[in-house]
Amino acid sequence: MSILYVVATPIGNLEDITERAKRVLSEVDLIAAEDTRHTAIVLNHLNIKTPLTSYHDHNESSASHSLIEQIKSGKEIALVSDAGTPLIADPGYRLVKLAREEGVKVVPIPGVSAVTAALSVAGLPTDKFTYHGFLPAKSKALQDFLKELENEPGTLIFYESPHRLVKTVAMFEKVFGSDRILVVARELTKRFEQVSYGTIGEARERIEAGEIVVKGEFVLLLQGQLKVDSEWDERKLLAELLTDLSVSRAAELASRLTGRSKNVLYKIAISMKEDS
Ligand code: SAM
Repeated sequence: MSILYVVATPIGNLEDITERAKRVLSEVDLIAAEDTRHTAIVLNHLNIKTPLTSYHDHNESSASHSLIEQIKSGKEIALVSDAGTPLIADPGYRLVKLAREEGVKVVPIPGVSAVTAALSVAGLPTDKFTYHGFLPAKSKALQDFLKELENEPGTLIFYESPHRLVKTVAMFEKVFGSDRILVVARELTKRFEQVSYGTIGEARERIEAGEIVVKGEFVLLLQGQLKVDSEWDERKLLAELLTDLSVSRAAELASRLTGRSKNVLYKIAISMKEDS
């Protein structure tokens, strides 16, 4: 049975390729690449001479059919993208879907992805996270998209380009306020790698001050909303805060953390104080 391999390649540092990826790329009959010129440079560096064919957003549909036919006739093919893991904000979905539908075996050759590299060093919760790829470009669409995510409890991960970074961080501040943690991960694995950890407000200030350089490739990781399911949880949170803070400060903080009305929380906190 012939195989389609989905092979991860580096996101900047050429050392970040696995032994298995190198072996598979040198053994297959053909490599389907997003940009054959770009991949040729990587293959040249690895001294791999496998022929290349182009597979990108604009020929995904027709190229998928042709590639699956070639695999069925006995060829082994590897899919790569310009950087990182194919299909993750990169072409490949149609090819893999067609392979599955046609009963072709698909084998992952895992490696780097900017999303997992960034998450592994962000210092934000990893037990639950959602990846959203690139954000909408237009302001209104961006705002609507982010509003939908307001109550997401897990870490939110986005890819961003330098020319949209300032606008996106400003919109984060408008929709989520200034206080959530926003990690800005830039140029991972490369010479000018930079990971900034702080609040949304601090990220904006660091960009304004030039401390975060608005150049290169970015992953943005945003703290999720603290989930409070029930009144009981609200009370538990308030009880914890009331051990150290005044009623009004506890209500204010609980409101910021849960997104619930400060007045309602203030009334609950007052009644809890009276009962204690
Ligand atoms: N397939 C890739 C992966 O697995 O991460 C992603 C490809 S997508 C077209 C490119 C985007 O990924 C960039 O615009 C940036 O948001 C992010 N990215 C890729 N390499 C990065 C790096 N070295 N540092 C930070 N972000 C990176």
